[in-house]
Formats: sequence, C-alpha cells, structure tokens
Amino acid sequence: MSDALRDLLDGRWATLRREAVELLAKLEPTPADLDREQYRAWVLEQLHVLAAGGHSLVAFPAEHGGRDDVGGSVVAFEVLGFGDLSLMVKAGVQWGLFGGAVQALGTRAHHDELLPAIMGLELPGCFAMTESGHGSDVQRLRTTATYDPATQEFVVHTPDRSARKDYIGNAARDGRLAVVFAQLVTGGGAHGVHALLVPIRDASGAPMPGVSIEDCGRKAGLNGVDNGRLAFDHVRVPRAALLDRYGAVSPEGVYTSPVEGDGRRFFTMLGTLVRGRISVAGGAGSATKRALTIAVRYGLARRQFTRPDSGEEVVVLDYLAHQRRLLPALATTYALHFAQEELVSALHDVADDRGQRELESRAAGLKAVATWHATATIQTCREACGGAGYLAENLLADLKADTDVFTTFEGDNTVLLQLVAKGLLTSYRDHVGDLDPWGLARFAADQFVGVVIERTAARAIVDRLVKGGSDALLDRGWQLRQFEDRERHVVEGLARRLRRATADDAFDVFNAAQDHLLHAARVHVDRVVLEAFVAAVDRCRDEATAALLGRVCDLYALSTIEADRAWFLEHGRLTPARAKAVTQAVNGLCGALRPHARRLVDAFGVPESRLTAPILG
Ligand SMILES: Cc1cc2nc3c(=O)[nH]c(=O)nc-3n(C[C@H](O)[C@H](O)[C@H](O)COP(=O)(O)OP(=O)(O)OC[C@H]3O[C@@H](n4cnc5c(N)ncnc54)[C@H](O)[C@@H]3O)c2cc1C
Repeated sequence: MSDALRDLLDGRWATLRREAVELLAKLEPTPADLDREQYRAWVLEQLHVLAAGGHSLVAFPAEHGGRDDVGGSVVAFEVLGFGDLSLMVKAGVQWGLFGGAVQALGTRAHHDELLPAIMGLELPGCFAMTESGHGSDVQRLRTTATYDPATQEFVVHTPDRSARKDYIGNAARDGRLAVVFAQLVTGGGAHGVHALLVPIRDASGAPMPGVSIEDCGRKAGLNGVDNGRLAFDHVRVPRAALLDRYGAVSPEGVYTSPVEGDGRRFFTMLGTLVRGRISVAGGAGSATKRALTIAVRYGLARRQFTRPDSGEEVVVLDYLAHQRRLLPALATTYALHFAQEELVSALHDVADDRGQRELESRAAGLKAVATWHATATIQTCREACGGAGYLAENLLADLKADTDVFTTFEGDNTVLLQLVAKGLLTSYRDHVGDLDPWGLARFAADQFVGVVIERTAARAIVDRLVKGGSDALLDRGWQLRQFEDRERHVVEGLARRLRRATADDAFDVFNAAQDHLLHAARVHVDRVVLEAFVAAVDRCRDEATAALLGRVCDLYALSTIEADRAWFLEHGRLTPARAKAVTQAVNGLCGALRPHARRLVDAFGVPESRLTAPILG
C-alpha cells in the first residue's frame, strides 16, 4: 500500500522528483561543527555539485540550455528541502531569485549574455530588493537609478543608511552581480521601482568601486548563507543594465513601458517572481515532513511508564496526548502537500492575467499557511522527542532554526494574508498590491456582490459532495459545506464592514477590521487546501489507500474545525454538544490512524541518508 501512497504524493512531476532525490544522494550530509566561514564554503562547494548535476537547468529556457520546466523547478527545490536548508536557500537565491529576475524582468540580450553563466554558477548573484528602511513596503524603497543621457548610463545611489540593501543572500561573500531594485528617474521624471544589473565584486572578489558591502553576521539559522548589506555611492552602469521587459529608457532618456501606472507596473513585475514564494512553501513542506518522520519514528520506539495491567512500558505514540500532537499535524502536512501540488501545476499552466492574479493570491496564502505550519510542527516534533530532540545530532534543532525565517522572507506572512483577503474582495479583477484602504472600500461598496466560491480542484467531485450527503461529522459533504459556509460568512461580513468607510476614515476602518481580514484569508486558504485533499483522495485508484487517505482527510477537516470552534460556536454553526462531538471524532481518528503512522511518514519519501538522527537507531 505504501507504494500507491508514494505514487500519489509524487504526483505530476514523479520522474523529476525521483531524479532530484538521486542528485540529493550525491550531496554530502552537513558536516557537524563547522564555523561560519567553513559552512559558507561548504555550501558553495555543494552548490557547484548541484549545478554540475543539472539542478539549475530545470527552470530555464531550452534555448539557453535549460529544460523549460517551471513546475519541475519548484519540485526540485522542494526535494532540496530534505537536505541542508542553507544549501536549499542559497540555490533559491542563485537560480530562483537572481536567475529568475534576470529571466522574468530582462530581455533577449540579458538572457543571451547571462543565463548560461548563471545556470553554471560561473556568475553568482544577488536579488537586492529589501532595504533597512523598507521590507514589506518595497514599493517605497529609496535607492535611486538616475539616467544620464550624456554618458548613456544609470547612476545607482544609496541616499542614506536606511536605503542600503539589507539581508541580501549571496552578498556577504560570493555574489558578483546584483539585480538591484531602485526608483528609476529620467529627465522626464520618476517612473517607480525597476531592476538593474549592478556588478558588486570584481574577478578577485574585491568590492567594485563605489560599492560598500557589509556582512549581516551570525543569524538564528541558515548560517551557510552569506547575507549582507549593499550600499552604492553614485555607481555608474550602462543603459543596457536596466532589466527592461516592463520599462525601457531610450539613449536620449525617453521612458516607455507596456504597463500604465508605476504601482501597477511594479506589482506586475513582482507577480512574475511568484515562483520564489511557491518554492518557499514547498521547502517548508519538506522540512516539516522530515521533522515528522523523525518524531513519529521515535514516538514508535520510545517507551515511558508502565501499563498497570501488563506491566509493560508504553510506546509513547500509544498515548492519546502524543497522537494529538503529531497526527493532526501529519494530516495537515498531507493536505498542504496536495494543495502545493495544485499550486505548482497552476504556476506551470497559467494562461491569462486573471489566472496569474489568482495564482499570486494562492501563492501568498499557501506560503503563509505552510510556513507557519512548519514552524509550529517542527517545534512540536522537537518536544515530542524530549531531551533527545534538543540535541543537534538529532536534526530537529537545526530544522527549527533554519525554517524560522520562512515566515518572514519571500513576504511576511501577515502582510501576505492581507493580499489574499484583498484578492477575495476584488475577485482578482485587478492587481491588489497597491490598492489602498479607500480603493478597497470602494471595491467592496461598488463591485462586491457576495462570495462566489470558485472551486480550485476537482470541481465535479466537490460539487457533488457539497450538494449531497448527510450531516454526519465524517461526511465529506458536511465538512466541505462547513468550510465554504465559514468562508462566505467571514468574507461577506468583511465586505460589509469595509463598505461603511469614507475617504476620510478608510484607513481607520480598514485597520479596525484587520483581524477580520486575516481570518477571511485564513479560512479561504483552509477551503482551498481541503478541496485539494478531496481531489487527491478522488484520484487515488487503490481502494485501501484511498480509504486510509480518506481518514487522514477527515482528521485534517475536523481538526481544522476544532481549532476554530470558537467561530463555529459563536455563529451558531455548531451546538456545544456537536462541538464536543468534533473533539471526540478527532480523538477517534487519532486512534484509528495510529497503526498507520509509520506508513504515512514513510510515504513522504525522505531519503534515509537525510534521517541520520541517532535517536532513530
Ligand atoms: C535570512 C534572510 C534572508 C533574506 N534574503 C533576502 C534577499 O536575498 N533579498 C531581499 O531583497 N530580501 C531578503 N530578505 C528580506 C526579507 O524579504 C524581509 O525581511 C521581509 O520582506 C520583511 O521585511 P522587514 O524585515 O523589513 O519587516 P517589516 O516589513 O518591517 O515587518 C515587521 C513586522 O511588522 C508587521 N507589519 C508590516 N506591515 C504591516 C501591515 N501593513 N499590517 C500589519 N502588520 C504589518 C509584519 O507582519 C512584521 O511582523 C531576507 C531576510 C532574511 C531575514
């Protein structure tokens, strides 16, 4: 049965996933006790092994030697999440952020000149967007790129310390070239944020004239990545350094763009970089699977206290409390896996503007939920392994430290969920990134006519289940109806609140409803995730596997309802007696899944070479 489960989890990119696991096996496990410089050197060395093994080719165009497989590149990144996470992040910086920006924002000449060297790692680079003063609100960053028609160059400048580029991966040690985001200025005025290529080190590794580089120093985790700060003192780069797919400057200094409006253009550019966010969600999923594999296997071996009837010591996973900590988290990890696969497919197949906006919103939502789930679950796994979980040799301590920042980079989760809610209120009709509270209030008043539940996966099966079935807690139709009904109610209530705003008080009305906004986004993501799980169970052709997965899906659905039972009770969706029955059903499902726990974690396919924790025996 394990194989049917494994095949289902491997999904659409099964062949590539297995290739990526083979490549992972060629990498060394992280050596113990490296100092920071040794760790960074080791990560760079391993990055070269990845490049030589073809990892970097997957995302890039075939005409430059790549494999043109955008979805596959996310899957390959996910597999790196079973190994050293500094290496995964460094690969993401080089090929996802830096290479991805050159590919998405540049044009033919940039691609011809740079992509082969980026793929081959002859040209290590950075993605320099965040500044000390502006992280979430990057539209207001303050580095400038001013065009000088006399020399046909841009002058890149950091006006003060708060405008220096901060936390930039690959900057402190290895990067040679940076994609620098700056406010573009020509004789005709300011044109908003654009990206330019700025050399930061020469061939010997010394900073280029006018470029200052600082090391961010020791971090809470990911210490194999060289994060640094960059500042530019009137650094001149040629006109061709502008990545000009969305905005070009003629030799005379005339600015043209295919996209009207600075804000709209910037959010269009950001949208093309959505792959990074989806990759982080996938990487978080892999780290969570690794932690759960360790904790469940340890929970099946570890015994504490005796049963009075037999005198035998009890396996800790036989305690309900232990099952309660690990098994709902395991069920959610399955649910998020299937939602991630849907999202990767949507990225791979996206065909139009509306689809792109919906993709961006789903990516934001899933990234937030998956990375918060990773942080919470890895902590739970650490505790579930007791003192042994705290020892570095058992891997969980580094997993905790390295995944912590996933909730912040590639977009702070709280900020991302607000984008999701804005997308729901506007039905993805336009870019929402720069929609201010008053714009949103007007949208809610003029155009929002109620929530249209748009099914994201397996429309036919979900439609059928929602319409039929009973009110039993284990009835899939009932579960789906609860998720849909909650989403509709929360989002419509939010629209009513925002609609009351006027131009004068829009910010305060919006701010007073921010908890409501976040809840709306969260319950929407829950519904999308449940649908993806339902679709996966429906795809499963092996009857016994489908039955097992069905129970895992029940546990996901009911533990999610249980976690938000205050809402269901407050809104009369559950009576107190039925809320108690939900808790009993979750307990029952934990007991029913306990005998399958090992099989369920084995199906994640974490390579044994990445499960070297001595507690696993
Ligand atoms: C290890 C690491 C690597 C990184 N790598 C890169 C890189 O390679 N390139 C790059 O460009 N950047 C990089 N970053 C930067 C990263 O993307 C930013 O840290 C992130 O976008 C958050 O910005 P900030 O740190 O300024 O936080 P802030 O935006 O200042 O947020 C601080 C807090 O305020 C809250 N907050 C902000 N706005 C709102 C709001 N409207 N409503 C409610 N709450 C709000 C947030 O939720 C957060 O809790 C990296 C960061 C780290 C830590």
